[in-house]
Amino acid sequence: MSDECLFCKIIAGEIPSNKVYSDDDVYAFHDINAAAPVHILIIPKRHLTGVTAAGEDDKALLGNLILKANEIATQQGLVEGGFRYVINTGKDGGQTVFHLHLHLLGGRPMRWPPG
Ligand code: AMP
Ligand code: ZN
Repeated sequence: MSDECLFCKIIAGEIPSNKVYSDDDVYAFHDINAAAPVHILIIPKRHLTGVTAAGEDDKALLGNLILKANEIATQQGLVEGGFRYVINTGKDGGQTVFHLHLHLLGGRPMRWPPG
């Protein structure tokens, strides 16, 4: 847990969130500023600043994150029609919250290239 991290505070319940899923390792909640009809953030409970902060010890954490996201995408009814995962990384990647998070976006056709 990082004292100054918004998403650590959400995990700790210090800041409210619209929870979708929680277990010992993963937390998922609706993005406050939805960019699509379904916009869910899937995050590890362990504080990592971003995907490039992951190391050899984090293989299970990363795999688990994607497998849980797949379950959530299924529950949201997105798998047949398709959806998008996004991990914004660093300044040029558009990352604004420095706690690793996977965006699950769906419910409308996605455009390419992204902005
Ligand atoms: P990123 O720009 O990839 O770092 O994504 C951060 C995301 O967190 C943005 O899509 C924000 O809308 C979202 N966000 C920021 N604050 C909150 C909050 N309190 N609850 C839910 N989502 C949030
Ligand atoms: Zn954090």
